[in-house]
Formats: sequence, C-alpha cells, structure tokens
Amino acid sequence: MPGRAYLGGMTVHFAFQNSYAGLPANFFARVAPTPVAAPRLIKLNRPLAVQLGLDPDMLETPEGAEILAGKTVPEGAEPIAMAYAGHQFGHFVPQLGDGRAILLGEVIDRDGVRRDIQLKGSGPTPFSRRGDGRAALGPVLREYIVSEAMHALGIPTTRSLAAVVTGEPVMRETALPGAVLTRVAASHVRVGTFQYFAVRRDNDAVRALADHVINRHYPELAQAERPYHALLAAVVGRQADLVARWLLVGFIHGVMNTDNTSISGETIDYGPCAFMDEYNPAQVFSSIDEMGRYAYANQPRIALWNLTRLAECLLPLFGEEQDKAVEQAQEILGAFPEQFSAAYQAGLRRKIGLFTARDGDEALIQDLLDAMAKNAADFTLTFRGLSDAAGNEAADERVRALFAEPAAFDEWAARWRKRLDEEPQTPAERQALMRSVNPAFIPRNHRVEAVIQAAMNRDDYTPFEELLKVLSKPYEDQPEFAAYQDPPQPHERVCQTFCGT
Ligand code: AMP
Ligand code: MG
Repeated sequence: MPGRAYLGGMTVHFAFQNSYAGLPANFFARVAPTPVAAPRLIKLNRPLAVQLGLDPDMLETPEGAEILAGKTVPEGAEPIAMAYAGHQFGHFVPQLGDGRAILLGEVIDRDGVRRDIQLKGSGPTPFSRRGDGRAALGPVLREYIVSEAMHALGIPTTRSLAAVVTGEPVMRETALPGAVLTRVAASHVRVGTFQYFAVRRDNDAVRALADHVINRHYPELAQAERPYHALLAAVVGRQADLVARWLLVGFIHGVMNTDNTSISGETIDYGPCAFMDEYNPAQVFSSIDEMGRYAYANQPRIALWNLTRLAECLLPLFGEEQDKAVEQAQEILGAFPEQFSAAYQAGLRRKIGLFTARDGDEALIQDLLDAMAKNAADFTLTFRGLSDAAGNEAADERVRALFAEPAAFDEWAARWRKRLDEEPQTPAERQALMRSVNPAFIPRNHRVEAVIQAAMNRDDYTPFEELLKVLSKPYEDQPEFAAYQDPPQPHERVCQTFCGT
C-alpha cells in the first residue's frame, strides 16, 4: 500500500499522473521498493526538483530521504518494474526487465513534459533473476555526474534527481556501500521493450506500446498517414542526432545494447561509459567490451544495428504484405547514415569555426582528426584551444603543444586559416560560436574516479560537489577550476571502466 510520508502535518507531495502503469498487465510487474536500514541523502538536484514540481526543501528532510531510498512509497506512486528484452553484445535475451530499478510514477514537469521518476538500486524485482536489485555507491555517483554533465553539455539524457546511501552493504567482488539513484527520464521505453513483445508474437502489445510512445514522445505522428512508419523514422532521426552529439564531445557509451537504447532519443543507462582524453577512434574503456563492439567510432553503426532490431519489431504494424513492409523498413533505416553524417559534419564544422559548408571542409576536418589520432592530442583541449586560436594566433602555441609532433598542427593550421578567411564573420563571432560548442570541461575519468574514492574511503563528498559545480557550466572558462581541464597525469590514467552491476 502506498503510504503517506508525514512531516509535522506536511506531506512530501508528488503530483503523479501515471500512464505506463495503466497499460496491460504483461507490460510490467507491480513491486514495491525494499526498505533499507539507514538512508542518508547525499545529493539532491534542487533545480531539477523544482522543474518537476517537487519541493526541494521537503525532499531534503529525513522523510524525503526515505522516499528517495525506497523506504517509504509516496502517495500516488504505482511502483512497477518494466518488462523488456534485449540484445546484449549481439546476443538476444528474451527477458531482461528492470532488475534493480522501480518506476515510482510519472509527473508532468513545468514545461508540460511527462517524466518518469525511477529508483535505481531499490531492491529485487521479479526480473532480478540472479542479481540483488541493488546498486553500489560508485556507479551511482558516476551516473549522477556523467548524466548531469551530459545535460549541461546540451545532449539529450536521463537526469539524476538524487543520490542516497542506504546504510547497507552490497556484495560485489567485495562488500561495497549501497546507494540508490533517483533517475528521471522522458520515459524508460527502450528498443528492448518492443523486442519483449515482438519475440512473443504479441502484436497487440507491440501496437499498444507503439501507440503509447507516439502519444508520449511523438504526438504529431498520430495524424500521419502511416503513424508506425513515421514512428520508426522519428526514432531513427533522434538516434542519429544523439550519436552524432556523443561523438562531437568524445563520449563513449560503453554498453549500447538494445535494452540501453531509448525510444525517446535520450542517453540512458550510464554504466562503463567514459569521455576520451586523447583522440582515438578505436577507444574502448569498458572492461567487458573485449571485441570493441562499442568502441567510440563504432557507435553510429551500432545505433543503426539497434534501430534495425526496432524495425523488425514494428514490421507486423506496417501492413499485411511482409515483403513490402521489409522494403519500407529498409528505406526508413536507409536514412540513418545520411542523417547521422549531416549532424556529425555540421557539428564538426562548428567545432572548427565554420559558419558555411564548402567542398573540401570534410577533408580538412578529417585531416585534423587524423593528425590528432596520430599525435595523441587531447580531444577536448584541442577544440577548446582552437576556439582561442580562432581569435588570436598567439594561442596556437597551446594547441600545437598538445600534438606529439607539433609541426603536424602547424601544417593543418595554415590550411584552416586560409579556409576561415573565406568566411565573412569576425574572429570574435567565430570564437563565440566555437566556445559554445567546444566544452572546456568534461567529466574526465580520473576526476570521476577520484570523486568515487573520496566518497567511499573517506565519506567525503566535497570533491563530488565541486566536480558537479564545474561540469554544470562546461562552456565557461572558470579560471579558478582550470585544473579540471587537465588530462590525467600518467599515474592518474583510468584505462578501464566497469559496469558495477
Ligand atoms: P544494465 O547493465 O543496467 O543495462 O542491466 C542489464 C540487465 O541486468 C537489466 O535487466 C538489469 O535490470 C539487470 N541488472 C543489472 N544489475 C542488476 C542487479 N544488481 N540486480 C538485479 N538485476 C540487475
Ligand atoms: Mg540497462
């Protein structure tokens, strides 16, 4: 039974308006979070709380912490674990589902957008199988930091509303402090959600799910001549745009399984994700990605592979004639490479300060990327440095120093300047454009790692708070935090990241 959290007569109030819990019973399992011993709120995202129509002061009370830890279920919540399937590293698993996450419900935010509020790490569900349904503190902090950094960078993503330590250990290779993350998403419907029903040949469920996501994420498509075709095309477009944005900031998701691919086009499921320091298209951080399936430069191809799995699920909705349906799906999927490439190339042009597109631009940019790869140049610092160099040639020195062979940069810079001269904008205009797309600050691995160590070893959350603060304004210089721009020293390098499940 949902209980009320009283606070001197006041209630921590969520204006839930749930829709997913009203879908057919095979879409989810009703399950309440498992209470924990001694919840302690370590972080509340106050601006996000306000955006969601929640009272941040109330959420910071002990009662608020109990809700965010899953110890008390707030009124109006209809806790469920969602069913889904998925291809994990290419292998199909017909039943995955929320094994350590519970959707409390949905609220309508201040912009009128319906948002899921979900607890991650809140105990077992019928989908947990061997897992414990819990999350360790490290991965919770990592997801909090990286998802909020992505949001500040302007990239569609799930958000983090809160992190709570549970006061209970979780057993991994060793005993680790347990934590719960409150995740906020446009929805948690994934490609894998469609696969769950498609593999069961439950066409009615596929249709009900498609109608739900059209209504929720793509309402304009309800009027389309062929809404389900239009849905596939819309998801293809959002994924193409999303992956282009990832590449433009050096982000590697790490586990692009179909169950980690959101239908709304948000980045979801931050596991062994990482931003690269030096540019290397083949970069992999995840310890479990032995084949490099989810390497940086493979991400567009994998996104298309995942979208192809979605298309297969939608085929029965495309019409009676399956040959024709397949042809139509192929045509829609065929738009992905061009859409991705258009978004990626436009982004790259902005990164080097071009307002227009000309023949030869792609080659110019590719030559820079090749030189960066060959010379182990830091991805973020190179583009941020170019933003300064665009206004002042004296700033070249700092960029060329990032290249193992600085002459490789000089040669490229001469060609770049010639190309910039063909554009009418002033250096100041160019610089403003570049500084708005080339972040100074990204969540560098070694910084994230240091935050986790401080929290776990010393119960010290000051580094966490400071990193969050710096990353909330990634495009501003913030001279007092200049050291956060630096790549790792050799002894600080993080070569592998872990799922932490
Ligand atoms: P993920 O690695 O988050 O994409 O999860 C893959 C699958 O494993 C999902 O079905 C999760 O719910 C499940 N899972 C991951 N960690 C746990 C855990 N600690 N307990 C139970 N299920 C888990
Ligand atoms: Mg997942």
